[in-house]
Amino acid sequence: MSGANDIRKTFLEFFKHNGHEVVPSASLVPINDPTLMFTNAGMVPFKNVFTGIEKRPYSQATSSQKCVRAGGKHNDLDNVGYTARHHTFFEMLGNFSFGDYFKEQAITLAWDLITKEYALPKEKLTVTVFHEDDEAFTLWKKIAGLPDEKIIRIATADNFWSMGDTGPCGPCSEIFFDHGDHIWGGPPGSPEEDGDRFVEIWNLVFMQYEQTASGRNDLPRPSIDTGMGLERIAAVLQGTNDNYEIDTFKRLIAASVEVTGAAETTQNRASHRVISDHLRACSFLIADGVSPSNEGRGYVLRRIMRRAMRHAHMLGAKDLVMYKLAPTLIGEMGQAYPELVRAKKLIEETLKLEEARFRQMLEKGLNLLENSLVDLNGDTLPGETAFKLYDTYGFPLDLTQDALREKKLKVDIDGFNRAMDEQKAKARAAWSGSGDAASDDVWFNIQDKFGSTEFIGYSTERADGKI
Ligand code: ATP
Ligand code: MG
Ligand code: MG
Ligand code: MG
Repeated sequence: MSGANDIRKTFLEFFKHNGHEVVPSASLVPINDPTLMFTNAGMVPFKNVFTGIEKRPYSQATSSQKCVRAGGKHNDLDNVGYTARHHTFFEMLGNFSFGDYFKEQAITLAWDLITKEYALPKEKLTVTVFHEDDEAFTLWKKIAGLPDEKIIRIATADNFWSMGDTGPCGPCSEIFFDHGDHIWGGPPGSPEEDGDRFVEIWNLVFMQYEQTASGRNDLPRPSIDTGMGLERIAAVLQGTNDNYEIDTFKRLIAASVEVTGAAETTQNRASHRVISDHLRACSFLIADGVSPSNEGRGYVLRRIMRRAMRHAHMLGAKDLVMYKLAPTLIGEMGQAYPELVRAKKLIEETLKLEEARFRQMLEKGLNLLENSLVDLNGDTLPGETAFKLYDTYGFPLDLTQDALREKKLKVDIDGFNRAMDEQKAKARAAWSGSGDAASDDVWFNIQDKFGSTEFIGYSTERADGKI
């Protein structure tokens, strides 16, 4: 049985042998893109290569890209711990053609890798194509010899990718693995597709059009972008449908059991998963220069950290625990990502400081929450209470939601936002400012929208090539 480190290596070597340049993962903080919170797909560092703005000395590349999906368009934060296939941090394996090979070669390579190198049984595989993409349908039939009913036509945006409102776009084809009928879920396009039985392992994007304000044109040299979750393919190859049962996570969860002193019972399961998932996200973000703060990227990091820390508290951990897990993670992933090794001290110090700070507030905050549940009518916590937890005790909204989730309760989000707006209005009123009303407004609007100055700061720093 191959471990995740070997599976990554096999992927990169396969594409290297097939003429691809192996490109190291870019930072989780996207360069030259202040609109994007975190790198969330393998193609992100190549955006300008696809549009032609940037030239590279190669036209085929492969990478294992660090990704975080905990905010913005792709937000999998709430899924973590509760589905078997979502992480906040994961590695996306990909191969890319910049105006070089196209659909036929992309499908051939993908099929060879999964059925020959990884030796997956063909009968467990199902693919989807965009409903209008007859070319892809025919190619799957020809190359993979799949029967018609295993090439599912999908009409939704899941099978049509675009970079933005304008720019390159095109149909996608996704490869699903059927983990078997002992697991709930149905094939893509069916009402049960959200289950964990048919798991999407690989997405092939065929960039063949350019969307402009006036319409859609054929790209003269179409491109390929693919993404496969390392943890998902590792699960398949290790005979489980559950990403949290792969070698990497088994060791992280064992470490979490050890430092918290809480056994891996059914009741504790989600917490250990959240802790080990969030540990990875936090450590990698810190290694890429993000530090916890109340704004922008730093705030997302803080939310992830505090959520993990609340779960450690729920497990009954008496001491600070997160920093104690860092060495296990670095042992698992430090060879593939040496930035983790370099940042070891910083990761540990940051986790320790944040956990110490949060612990001071946690108990009081949780008491307030419990007390307000005593005389709660209905299933919704008032927005002002959630805001008070946020404002006074440093509980991000999603942490409160997560705490209530187990009790089948929710938060009045509108009320929370109203309380937040009121506080901002008070801050505005109290701030004498520069005396220039127009520019003060601009400042507050920018802060509301992007939440930071730090945002641009990190990107500019990266653009200078500093680590
Ligand atoms: P899903 O439908 O399962 O949420 P997706 O369609 O959002 O996946 P893509 O954007 O197509 O995913 O990303 C390419 C691949 O990255 C997926 O096929 C999957 O293997 C992997 N992947 C996506 N999101 C996650 C996640 N949150 N955790 C782990 N792997 C992921
Ligand atoms: Mg998704
Ligand atoms: Mg999908
Ligand atoms: Mg997909």
